[in-house]
Amino acid sequence: MVDLKGQYEHIKDRVNSSVIDVIDSTAFINGPEVKTFQKELEAYLDIKHVIPCGNGTDALQIAMMGLGLQPGDEVITADFTFAATVEVIALLQLTPVLVDVEPDSFNIDPEAIKKAITPKTKAIVPVHLFGQSANMEAIMDIAKAHDLFVIEDNAQGIGASYTFADGRKAKTGTIGHVASTSFFPSKNLGCYGDGGAIFTNDDALAHTIRGIVNHGMYTRYHHDVIGVNSRLDSIQAAILRVKLPHLNKYNAARRKAAQKYNTAFNEIPNINTPKLSNNCTAICDTCDCHVFHQYTLRILGVDRDALVQHLQANDIPCGVYYPIPLHLQKAYQDERYNEADFPVTNQLVKEVISLPMHTELDDEQIEFITRTIIEFVQK
Ligand SMILES: *Cc1c(COP(=O)(O)O)cnc(C)c1O
Repeated sequence: MVDLKGQYEHIKDRVNSSVIDVIDSTAFINGPEVKTFQKELEAYLDIKHVIPCGNGTDALQIAMMGLGLQPGDEVITADFTFAATVEVIALLQLTPVLVDVEPDSFNIDPEAIKKAITPKTKAIVPVHLFGQSANMEAIMDIAKAHDLFVIEDNAQGIGASYTFADGRKAKTGTIGHVASTSFFPSKNLGCYGDGGAIFTNDDALAHTIRGIVNHGMYTRYHHDVIGVNSRLDSIQAAILRVKLPHLNKYNAARRKAAQKYNTAFNEIPNINTPKLSNNCTAICDTCDCHVFHQYTLRILGVDRDALVQHLQANDIPCGVYYPIPLHLQKAYQDERYNEADFPVTNQLVKEVISLPMHTELDDEQIEFITRTIIEFVQK
């Protein structure tokens, strides 16, 4: 699905020397590389504060702690996503409220958010799924009307932009009150271990969060709030500093691969290729409206699971993200949910398949993958 080794080969010398430099310096924790990476990412995103932390799941949890959400507060998020989002909501004893997604973008449906709002609702967590922004304009309007926080889960969307109706653009993760991201190795900006970060333009919130990530300390050994221990280590920061200048190029390579997949599947009636949303109409070299963390098809009228087996038999990796709606997962079942409220997610889990997507895909690989799929669905 990914080719981390191929990508590493191009940056090997820089990565290796940066890692050795950190070891030589022995500044393993909170060393200068962490601070410098933080500044560089702030500049890239055009945001006031980046707070590095241990991973993308911690980032979500810390963002929610920083906002002061209290047990029993309701937090609305998407039914069709990775479980980390709902997990941290539940861990903090907040009440997750899962809602359906849009069939074309796979992202949280603003109309479903509106329907789920109650007097207890305190926050919305849109996930920019597969590398494309959720409908942030509609979500921010809803949040404003109901006085809610918006926490963007940008683990899959780093480098993507959102285009507002008036043509203004902003990077995902800089639009809501606070955002989280992950530097897990297979993410679009991945390190060589675990890592994550929180972003915000709010000075006071940034200050609160800087203490939370460090045991609730603002002055050494004075614990003002309950915190956690969550750090990006200096070696990972040094690797991320080598990779960040390549992020736009990496995302462009993903878009190019997506374009080639799209072209091959264009005329095939049983295959729905990924749709662009948010005032964006075409994948092109300069437009960063989709960064294709995953390239995900909907397979119609053909047994998706048989296709998965066929690809495996041909040594083509693929993934089903995600096979089970969160509201049906054992850990997150709740009698408040009604199946009729999740028609899109319930359908998507049967139809979606994600193909290999990374920076090193070549034409020959794409040709083999698309030919194998087309032969199968047209049988
Ligand atoms: C990867 C991911 C996370 C969690 O990130 P980790 O660094 O693995 O903790 C959270 N949300 C989404 C949508 C993700 O894809």
